[in-house]
Amino acid sequence: MTNKDFLAIIQKEARSVDYDRYLKQLVYKKISSDENIAIFEVSNKYIASWIKSKYTQVIQNCFEIYDGTKPTIEIKIVGEKKSKKEFIKEQIQNESAESTILNPSYTFNSFVVGSSNQMAYNASLAVSNKPGIQYNPLFIYGGTGLGKTHLLQACGNHAIEQGKTVIYVTIEQFMNDFTFSIKNKNMEHFRSKYRKCDVLLIDDIQFLSGKEQTQEEFFHTFNELHNAKKQIVMTSDRLPSQIAGLVDRLKSRFEWGLTADIQLPGLETKIAIIEKKSELNGISLTREIINFIATNLDNSIREIEGVLIRINASASLLNQEINLEMVQNLLKEQIKETKENIKLPDIINIVASELNIKPSDIKSKKRTAMVANARRVVIYLARELTHNSMPDIAKFLGMKDHSSISHNIKKANELIEKDENFKLIIQNLKNKIINKEW
Ligand code: ADP
Ligand code: MG
Repeated sequence: MTNKDFLAIIQKEARSVDYDRYLKQLVYKKISSDENIAIFEVSNKYIASWIKSKYTQVIQNCFEIYDGTKPTIEIKIVGEKKSKKEFIKEQIQNESAESTILNPSYTFNSFVVGSSNQMAYNASLAVSNKPGIQYNPLFIYGGTGLGKTHLLQACGNHAIEQGKTVIYVTIEQFMNDFTFSIKNKNMEHFRSKYRKCDVLLIDDIQFLSGKEQTQEEFFHTFNELHNAKKQIVMTSDRLPSQIAGLVDRLKSRFEWGLTADIQLPGLETKIAIIEKKSELNGISLTREIINFIATNLDNSIREIEGVLIRINASASLLNQEINLEMVQNLLKEQIKETKENIKLPDIINIVASELNIKPSDIKSKKRTAMVANARRVVIYLARELTHNSMPDIAKFLGMKDHSSISHNIKKANELIEKDENFKLIIQNLKNKIINKEW
């Protein structure tokens, strides 16, 4: 493998930011390497240790992909140029650049408002017009693919237009930034960065679950910003009270301001969204087709967008005429494909992880309320999202009698009708499974 081959493979395998910043500086020394050891050179020891800690496995995989070998990876430092200080400075610049990148198409203008998201939309608009005055924090929650990130970034884009300083990060980026700063003894910079903004936007805050140290740090960030009347907006796939492993003082703070939910859109909203998105994508759809898509896709707006992209691709790449039959086939294919791709063990694993129990409990004989509930969720989702029959599902779960499967499905349907929380859990899981978010 030449250096060029190596770079081409790792570029595909790595996160593109990591490749652009660090990995492309690697030089593979073919002459000094053999199938047991692969030698690389890089000009800075911090970059070398960063790559070693995060990418050794991936680099090994590159060799495996190329010729099936699995050499030990060694990274040598040659002609060091940058000091630690310079490296940290560069990293900080990169991190902060990354954190403020907003998708310019996520605006209030491109967001279709309906009764399912009216309150979240109004509150978002209010806080980005006058940050820190009303509703602080604003906590937006709802299932995946329903527009939380879009609204959050719309707040950011709008506030930037008003000349405000905005930080947008996912809670995972916040956490990475935090651990990086601890490691490099650069907490001062971290703190001042997060505490000097006018608007702090944190996406997917549910992932704070169980991260004690980050919760502690976020608690202080939150307090400082709140005391200084700076706006905080967060999104989550569930209510603060439902985030397991979140300390009480954060739970209560998250509810200090306003919590607004985003529900599944109703038919009219779905139609309006399809109209808007097809217009943006430059495809024209008849009323009949729009109605067909809106009535047949119930899970999320992301799913609807996916279908529009496929319609567009079939039309432009395969030169197909867009008509109802073509859309019906495409949807049928998509539904079939999704169903074939979803396996029962995947459902068990994701349900167990979402409901905080062990996967093995679901197949066990345990009858505690938590396990019984998780089993019911698995049964319902297995029926909805796969082609498995009731006896198949019973067998898989080690249940003797498949009449209890139909009983569980009936019970789940009842709960969806009357228990808002259960409905939200099901919706979320469904979307995560369909979108393979596990
Ligand atoms: P979430 O963060 O809740 O998982 P996203 O904000 O990523 O969902 O939304 C998924 C996709 O659906 C995005 O492309 C977004 O633009 C689109 N979308 C969601 N809700 C709306 C809406 N009300 N109007 C227009 N587009 C929407
Ligand atoms: Mg999101």
